[in-house]
Amino acid sequence: MRGAALSVEAMTESMFLNLPVQLPNKLINSLQNIPGFDEEAFRKAHESVEQVTSIRINPAKKFKIQKLQSKIPWSELGYYLDTRPSFTFDPLFHAGCYYVQEASSMFLEQAVKQIVDLSEPLKILDLSAAPGGKTTHIQSLISKNSLLVSNEVIRARANILKDNIIKWGCENVFVTNNDPADFSQLENYFDVVVVDAPCSGSGLFRKDADAIAEWSLNNVQLCSQRQQRILADVLPCLKKDGLLIYSTCSYSSEEDEDVVDWMTAEFPLKNLRLAVEENWGVVEVKTPAQNHCYRFWPYMLKGEGFFSACFSKTEGGIQPAIKPKRNIEPASKKEMSIICNRIKDEGFQLLKFAETFYALPEKLVAELNLLQQYLRIIYCGVETGQVMKEKLVPAHALALSNLPNADVERTELNYEQAIQFLQKKELPVTLFKKGWQIATHKNFGLGWVNALANRVNNYYPKELRILKDI
Ligand code: SAM
Repeated sequence: MRGAALSVEAMTESMFLNLPVQLPNKLINSLQNIPGFDEEAFRKAHESVEQVTSIRINPAKKFKIQKLQSKIPWSELGYYLDTRPSFTFDPLFHAGCYYVQEASSMFLEQAVKQIVDLSEPLKILDLSAAPGGKTTHIQSLISKNSLLVSNEVIRARANILKDNIIKWGCENVFVTNNDPADFSQLENYFDVVVVDAPCSGSGLFRKDADAIAEWSLNNVQLCSQRQQRILADVLPCLKKDGLLIYSTCSYSSEEDEDVVDWMTAEFPLKNLRLAVEENWGVVEVKTPAQNHCYRFWPYMLKGEGFFSACFSKTEGGIQPAIKPKRNIEPASKKEMSIICNRIKDEGFQLLKFAETFYALPEKLVAELNLLQQYLRIIYCGVETGQVMKEKLVPAHALALSNLPNADVERTELNYEQAIQFLQKKELPVTLFKKGWQIATHKNFGLGWVNALANRVNNYYPKELRILKDI
């Protein structure tokens, strides 16, 4: 299975290694009859050192790309970059203005836009979500009243997912750390389930040379079995008429078409066809059971290997009426008045867990009270901070969100100062007014400082700081 615990930086930047690759013959042999496979072109694409770099912008931060970059044809939010910049030394990367993401994966946007009614308040589960590429993408497409449960089974990766959600600055995501089987208790709950399954990872060979050494036919079989287990575990939580989006970054039919045909044979699922423009280079495949799937070959488009298929569930009862046994404690009137001095009054409720306050859209409070009975929720809404001596000690997440109101002090840093701040280095006292304030770069929040008479306390989280020097 691809995707061990890596740092946030490594998880985005190791994707750009320029290493020539030795393809396993067993893989090449196994692909011969797959639609769109061209051995010569496939080998050439893997020998080329040309790398595709792409990003997806965060519409909630109103970030605009300065230079005119070429668009990714299947995503309104995705752009190819001409060169690969150092994302580590770009303050706007740390401000969550964009997410570095492989272009083919952004095809999820087509599935979501074509099969989901986005005007409705939805309950969506992204089951295998770390480090957060699909989750941040889905979050940018859904309404504020919708709930996105972003789950990752591996704890260390769930924490990285949480960091990326905080950076994205969104309010309607719950990050959970559960096994897929835990979701079967939530019968008929979700409107949409996304399973971006753990796989053998051949689609990322051009970007992740380690995946080649780990690849074997045996591992493909194991991944296929695991994908089936995951799907069987998660399907009960999808409503009748709910939508399932399945994807992998494997070229192997055992993990792709075979799993799709197994799903429609075993479960009440109807395969859905998507409209794909011919000039995109995406190959539409019809499986032996006549299901429509979408394959991405790196020599036919600017992107890596990817596979996707969509379904709607044709059966299912109504969601059992479950009453939460206990509700999460809301903030007291006094605590509310202290925190509300700093945040916009836009229909949020403040909830308290272990002395820390979280702002959550009011409409999602009942869902949180219900889900906390079944799931290990490690983050929700926006962490706003703690109240100490009748003052708010703000949380990092608040600075990265759109919640702080106009009364919150902000200090704009130039590029060098912003990098120093992100390195958690000392900053000159003369730069700041006294007290708590958000350090910004190009008006995007980076984190908090508290300026005292003779020093500035830099509250950038130690575990996120840039360790390298320019
Ligand atoms: N969706 C993510 C994104 O776009 O950034 C990438 C997900 S990656 C392809 C697959 C994820 O499945 C990994 O984060 C991995 O830890 C997780 N995973 C591993 N074993 C799993 C299992 N048994 N059930 C569910 N998820 C699993």
